Amino acid sequence: MSVGAPKLAQAPLLEVRDLRKTFSSKRMFAQARAVTAARDVCFRIDRGEAVALVGESGSGKSTIARILLRLETADRGEILLSGEGVLAREPRHASLGYRRRVQMVFQDPFGSLNSIHSVAHHLMRPLLRHHRVAPAGARARAIELLRTVGLEPAEEFIDRHPYELSGGQRQRVAVARALAVEPEVLVADEPTSMLDVSIRAGILGLLAQLKRERGLAILLITHDLASARFLCDRILVLFRGRVVEDGPSAALVEAPAHPYTRALLASIASGTQKQAAASRDRETAGGEAAQGCPFAARCPDVMDVCRASDPAPRAVAGRQVRCHLYAEDAQAPRS
Ligand code: SF4
Repeated sequence: MSVGAPKLAQAPLLEVRDLRKTFSSKRMFAQARAVTAARDVCFRIDRGEAVALVGESGSGKSTIARILLRLETADRGEILLSGEGVLAREPRHASLGYRRRVQMVFQDPFGSLNSIHSVAHHLMRPLLRHHRVAPAGARARAIELLRTVGLEPAEEFIDRHPYELSGGQRQRVAVARALAVEPEVLVADEPTSMLDVSIRAGILGLLAQLKRERGLAILLITHDLASARFLCDRILVLFRGRVVEDGPSAALVEAPAHPYTRALLASIASGTQKQAAASRDRETAGGEAAQGCPFAARCPDVMDVCRASDPAPRAVAGRQVRCHLYAEDAQAPRS
């Protein structure tokens, strides 16, 4: 960059700073308690980069996605798009311009498309609403979009209705609909979790292709470290609303540093993710610990210091890890 070039030229495409969100949970005959869905969450995504937010159900990852989509308000923090603050300048619901730049693919391919409308309707509507094409060219552009997402022959798919499509085909239409407005960031909330295993790789492969060929920035929300490893450059592991480990995907999956990341990987290997989530739900029902590490009740490596103080993030082998097992700025575990 030349001397004196504007600061914004160096800004990441999307940056999240110190995002915090707390919900009040009130149960019958019980005191209201605060549940932290996001605590001081920070990350950035550049063009052509994919970042995963990984955690169990209830870890806060979907809340963060909803805040990014302006469907939820943050208590604190900032979201910057190309260096410009988003939360302070816009009303609760995002402007048309922001929605065009940041699009979402939802988890449920059966619920996200309206069965009474054709594929053509689903694709032409955003094209026209966001003025991406003249009305006369909308159908041809919609057919092009179907080709982009691998639905061929596109001329046959364009007039079908969602009930005539498989789950994988519907999710491809949902991706095509998001692409219609030429977004720069795609937030994909568990995009494969409701699909057959055999279909999942195809959808992840499509997202990888869009990232590579179009420079699309992707935020993948998932409970599945294997999907995150396949698609993403970086992984942020969330536990109870805070990032406990953040690093390059391959290194993080091959040598997880935080005990919670290790537990997530072990649950994938043993197929016990559902039991782990149920166990988490029981623990969450007891409320958040007032002090100390929030993972202490489940941690096999827990020490006295863990119950007394909440660990700050520290640099461990090229990533950030929030755990007392590692000395501040350590490269190796404490002996
Ligand atoms: Fe386990 Fe302690 Fe690390 Fe928390 S700080 S994850 S309790 S070792």
